[in-house]
Amino acid sequence: MFVMRSTVCLLVYLLVAVWTPQTKAGARTPFFDLTQYNDWPQFEDYVKGVAHDNPSFVQLKTIGRSREGRPLLGVRIGKPAPAGRRKIAVWLDGGNHAREWPAFHVAVYFIEKLVNGYLVDDKITKYVNTLDIYVFPVLNPDGFVYSRTSTRATIRQWRKNRAPENCTGTGPFSSDLCCEGVDLNRNYDIGFSHNNYPFNNPCSDEFQGPRPFSEPESRAVRDFVMSSEIYGRLYALVSMHTHGQLWILPYNYHKRTYPQDFKDLETLANRAADRVFAYRETKYRVGTAADMLGTATGGATDWIKKNTPTKYVYVLELPPDMKTWFAFQVKPHWLIPIGKETWLGIEVIFDQVIEETKNFQPTSEPSSNGTVDSRSPRFRQL
Ligand SMILES: [Zn+2]
Repeated sequence: MFVMRSTVCLLVYLLVAVWTPQTKAGARTPFFDLTQYNDWPQFEDYVKGVAHDNPSFVQLKTIGRSREGRPLLGVRIGKPAPAGRRKIAVWLDGGNHAREWPAFHVAVYFIEKLVNGYLVDDKITKYVNTLDIYVFPVLNPDGFVYSRTSTRATIRQWRKNRAPENCTGTGPFSSDLCCEGVDLNRNYDIGFSHNNYPFNNPCSDEFQGPRPFSEPESRAVRDFVMSSEIYGRLYALVSMHTHGQLWILPYNYHKRTYPQDFKDLETLANRAADRVFAYRETKYRVGTAADMLGTATGGATDWIKKNTPTKYVYVLELPPDMKTWFAFQVKPHWLIPIGKETWLGIEVIFDQVIEETKNFQPTSEPSSNGTVDSRSPRFRQL
């Protein structure tokens, strides 16, 4: 009898051990094949589906529309805050350059990791309970769709959005050329000047646009980071691009120009990069792009660092390194390994954010003129 009772107990225990995580989690994600490159409709269906299927901790976010009317979609992953409290928020995105497909896919990998790990993995559960994690896989859907339409280099390697043609372009032997598209990562109001060459040329891959925030995609990001939903509680932002294995810090609109807390950003970036390296020896260089590569004005992350209280603001240029030119789209079997190693670096950032903000109560509203002095403390200590 004793033996039988023990056996029954063991069986019950095993059943509970096997079934509990799934039952507790109740999380599920729509199928998304990360062993191949997907088209925009797959991203759209996935992001909408993951929010629909997990309403207790995933919310769909549409922050605006592209030039051609596609939604700028993301999710907020996080258990709702207790009444009267604001959670610290973090932001991950797949960038705004059309051809940089791996970054879009790695953002989906992050969503998979967070949603499927909730109530299963202790670390992930802590992140979802403590933080609001915003993930925006594709912030330039028009350019992405266009880059998928042909293997012709001029289309497959498209970088900009799909702004209508502008006929003030110049080439080596002519002027008044008409070219389409604006580089969304040159369109922000930081270091913007009509004298910036080649960013002032509509036929350049890096055309900044006729004026700062001329594009709906960059206006949508600006308006969302300034909105009462996340302003004052967004503490870290990582924007992924390809390629180069660079962990890029602000500022990039001018060489040797740094925010006051640069050392903090650099120290954390080095720790995160070391963690990534430990996985399969992917080596990142850490620094500003201005110092490592050359000045780039109008960048999204530079503008966000300068105009919001967000502390840790990074651009990751994912693998491969810079030895190969135009390696924006690695073979798709690398997407999951890149997702795994990059996630380990993201964990280092999340851990630091949680540790650093445990006694903070985020402030609630943007300042009246819509901008802030980046040197003043904005996270009020309790
Ligand atoms: Zn890029």
